Amino acid sequence: MEVTNRVNLLDRWTKEKSEELYGIKNWGAGYFSISDKGEVMVNPYPGNDKAAVSIMDIISGIRERGLDMPVLLRFENLLDTQISYLNNTFREAMKRLDYRGEYRGVYPIKVNQQQQVVEEVTKFGQQYHHGLEVGSKAELIAALSLLKDKEACLICNGYKDEEFIDLGLYAVKMGFKCFFVIEMPGELDLILERSKALNVKPNIGIRIKISTKAGGHWTDSGGDRSIFGVSISQLISIVDKLKENGMLDCLLLLHYHLGSQIPNIRDIRSAVLEAARIYAELVREGAPMGYLDLGGGLAVDYDGSNTNYSNSRNYTVEEYCEDIVEAVMTVMDSSNVPHPTIITESGRATVAYYSVLLFNVIDVERLEEHDVPQKLDENMPEQIKNLYDVYESITHRNIQECYNDALYYRDEIREMFKHGKISLRERSFAEKIFWGIITQVVKEKKKLKHAPPDLEDIESAIADIYYCNFSVFQSLPDSWAIDQLFPIMPVHRLLELPRRNAVIADITCDCDGIINHFVDLHDVRTALPVHEINNGDDYYLGAFLVGAYQETLGDLHNLFGDTNVVSVRIYPDGTYDLVKEIHGDSVADVLSYVEYDPKELLVNFRKTAEESVRQGLISPSDRREIMRAYENGLRGYTYYER
Ligand SMILES: *Cc1c(COP(=O)(O)O)cnc(C)c1O
Repeated sequence: MEVTNRVNLLDRWTKEKSEELYGIKNWGAGYFSISDKGEVMVNPYPGNDKAAVSIMDIISGIRERGLDMPVLLRFENLLDTQISYLNNTFREAMKRLDYRGEYRGVYPIKVNQQQQVVEEVTKFGQQYHHGLEVGSKAELIAALSLLKDKEACLICNGYKDEEFIDLGLYAVKMGFKCFFVIEMPGELDLILERSKALNVKPNIGIRIKISTKAGGHWTDSGGDRSIFGVSISQLISIVDKLKENGMLDCLLLLHYHLGSQIPNIRDIRSAVLEAARIYAELVREGAPMGYLDLGGGLAVDYDGSNTNYSNSRNYTVEEYCEDIVEAVMTVMDSSNVPHPTIITESGRATVAYYSVLLFNVIDVERLEEHDVPQKLDENMPEQIKNLYDVYESITHRNIQECYNDALYYRDEIREMFKHGKISLRERSFAEKIFWGIITQVVKEKKKLKHAPPDLEDIESAIADIYYCNFSVFQSLPDSWAIDQLFPIMPVHRLLELPRRNAVIADITCDCDGIINHFVDLHDVRTALPVHEINNGDDYYLGAFLVGAYQETLGDLHNLFGDTNVVSVRIYPDGTYDLVKEIHGDSVADVLSYVEYDPKELLVNFRKTAEESVRQGLISPSDRREIMRAYENGLRGYTYYER
């Protein structure tokens, strides 16, 4: 669909217009911008313009090294900057408010478990004693080998068996600040038993269910009915049991997790107040305590709207830190309890900015430009004439009515066709008129300040389809599973007017493999403004802020595997290194994940080919070519290769 009918040639398209159109300043957090050449730039050092690197430069570097799209770019420094930002903001808030405790961040491994990520968090985070949160044995095993800083916290959530507990106790013995967080009352017995057996005093924490219910997509894990955490009465029985065993002095930490991506600061405040009250009461019960762990939930402003919409947040990181510190302080001061060490488990906010998925457009489908006939033949059936009348009567005042009528007549005409009452040519004629009406409705809709609710998504009905080289299921699973929005935009040609509107289809050919919701400051867009692609031009789009949760939720839908990954480290002078390349899965890799044996496949296919030679269907040299193609296919990338 054409965005504008007449482009005023004097009204040049500029990078500022692209910035506004794609909202890059709103969601980019200062890390992403557009250059004077109209390319998307990445800068892990906001404020130092010299450091910005063009994504197109990185793409050409990747191409030269022989890697194909799609590529997941990871910017190591963005991880560093986010860790510094969170720690410094908490520290500044504590200083300003005169808080007499400390802040300790921990990174929850499940949010992005890649070794590179966890390694970078522990290495870079050491200066802040930034620790790790683990939810399983496997994560604990990874954490124990990567975490070097004994001052950093190691928080063990999740259901813990004997092996898990023993490992954690050994960690305590080795000097790690390792906490067992009790998620269910039954866990305590085993912890007590194993700590006696190994003669190690455990650091015990308790996860509670908070009565605060938070809004947003991801928040089922908080609240009264969450499956994790103990209720208030269970909390009391755990305290009693610790007392009976003379182990109350092991109770050091209180934890809750309200859920991820909490868009509203009021919910955050209210949960902190409740937890702080419980903490103070536990101190009154005689537990030493010392640590208040507020879990995750710090949201990312994916659409840049700064609202309490589920893809956004109505607060800044500064406000988040300040509100937490202030709430904890108020409760502690009024109960005469020393200020605890505040722990948060921010995952999403720590890693979201870190990765960008790049992909190219393979093909474009346009709704044909329908030339609706100037006049109608007298012999046309009544229904088609009616449809034509609708077409001729459209104005911005009656678009809803025309839209309804068009649907009605179109359906009637299709029924008539099924019953043999009109011909194929007549039906084709009617379809042209129908699409002519829809195109006209979209044009007229632009003149309205408030469009009828029925017509909210109508642009996507006539949008182009840009077929793109990636799999939604593999690389943006939350876009499919929970309709999460990620900022998506072209990474070049941003000094040109994007003349087309498109929805994005991936290469799985699955009807769910489509993206038709895009970020917009005031609303959700149903089509993305994009540039025209001239024959054979490369056109690259980026999906931004995909560092959290997307990588390991991906499945092998249609057997598209892991994408190529390139890690980039940018230096303050704007030079950069491609520090690591990981080749994505080959076809043989993904087949072996679902229990095929690629060697056996090859042997079987060779037999079939030999059989065809014997039957005279192919020549022996055909066989050689065919086998070569098959073997190349097995070795190749699962995505569209050039
Ligand atoms: C998932 C999870 C987190 C991470 O939450 P974010 O909103 O991504 O920061 C933290 N703590 C626990 C217990 C979790 O399960």
